[in-house]
Amino acid sequence: MILPGTTLGVLGGGQLGRMFTAAALTMGYEVIVLDPDPQSPAGRIASAHIAADYSDAEALDSFARRCAAITTEFENVPAATLETLARRCIVRPGAKAVAIVQDRILEKTFLRDHGFATAPFAIVRNAVDLSAALGNVGLPAILKVARLGYDGKGQVRIDNADDALRAWDAVKHAPCVLERLLPLDSEVSVVLARGADGTIACWPVGENKHRNGILDVTLVPARVGTNVAREAETLAQQIAMKLDYVGVMAVEFFLSHGVLRVNEIAPRPHNSGHFTLDACITSQFEQQVRALCGLPLGETRLLSPVAMVNLLGDLWREGRAPSWSSLLAQPNVKLHLYGKRQARPGRKMGHYSVLAPTAEQALTQAQAIQQTLAGKI
Ligand code: ATP
Ligand code: MG
Repeated sequence: MILPGTTLGVLGGGQLGRMFTAAALTMGYEVIVLDPDPQSPAGRIASAHIAADYSDAEALDSFARRCAAITTEFENVPAATLETLARRCIVRPGAKAVAIVQDRILEKTFLRDHGFATAPFAIVRNAVDLSAALGNVGLPAILKVARLGYDGKGQVRIDNADDALRAWDAVKHAPCVLERLLPLDSEVSVVLARGADGTIACWPVGENKHRNGILDVTLVPARVGTNVAREAETLAQQIAMKLDYVGVMAVEFFLSHGVLRVNEIAPRPHNSGHFTLDACITSQFEQQVRALCGLPLGETRLLSPVAMVNLLGDLWREGRAPSWSSLLAQPNVKLHLYGKRQARPGRKMGHYSVLAPTAEQALTQAQAIQQTLAGKI
């Protein structure tokens, strides 16, 4: 067990790294952040910040020397970086699992090979693959770049043959997955942690609403039947075991015609797990510290129904933050801001959680706050 007082490392200094850092500092660890951005949200609150590229050998050497254990806040860290670090200190999650989920082709193939249902898909590496894929997958479909996509970026919808050529140009002929666009009853996700001893702790299923391909609201408990919720939890746990995963991870699902299909896996705490900060006994970030350090996992029980809402840069008019006074006046609402200096449309600047006696009440209040912040009422 790595105990408080020790130094931990996190690759990536965005909001997820910042919330990991806050949890680790609270528990008495020191934290070093590695992120090229000298103004990174996590770097600004960490014990130390190494502003270097993720493949800078010298920086990685010093990082590994100073940390007892290292984790990551995002999936796009080169898997080779995790391997290099793992020769020097504990690294969780491991390079193997991250290498799979950071590449949609490997991820979808892994899911299919292990019998997990997904949307019908085909791998596209060239224009010939694409026309075959359109026939196999059917329309409408979405072309998704295999690597480095997030928040709906690197995705193009295809409704007909003309769109297909435009889409192929739009992704700059990069390796892709073509996926059937499914009619969705809803979307849900499961965040869980798996310890080095194989113990799994799972938070209750969240129901996710997206806007323009970006998560907008997570509602817990999800408004799906108990069988669907239990099945989602079981599938997520099976995926964690098959990946031999250690750390916090999330699985996003589509619910289409009552059937759960895996959308994607995140090898880190997840935006849809932010509700755990205010509404659960253990947050996903405290759990990330626990899994990384080999501590027993904390209890994941939900203390209150909750609606979590993302605050995107669109709300910042001419760089000015919206007025928080009405939100702050509501005593059952928790505001989180990530300390990002610059707001841009679509950029995640913060979130808030509304805790209420029922999920419906939490959602209604959360939506009223959204309207107020947007200046609509
Ligand atoms: P993030 O990393 O933020 O989750 P991403 O860029 O990896 O986003 P996806 O999760 O693949 O993107 O897709 C974003 C959203 O677009 C989904 O949550 C869903 O709302 C919609 N979407 C994606 N693929 C499909 C599909 N095959 N059928 C229906 N809707 C889809
Ligand atoms: Mg997604």
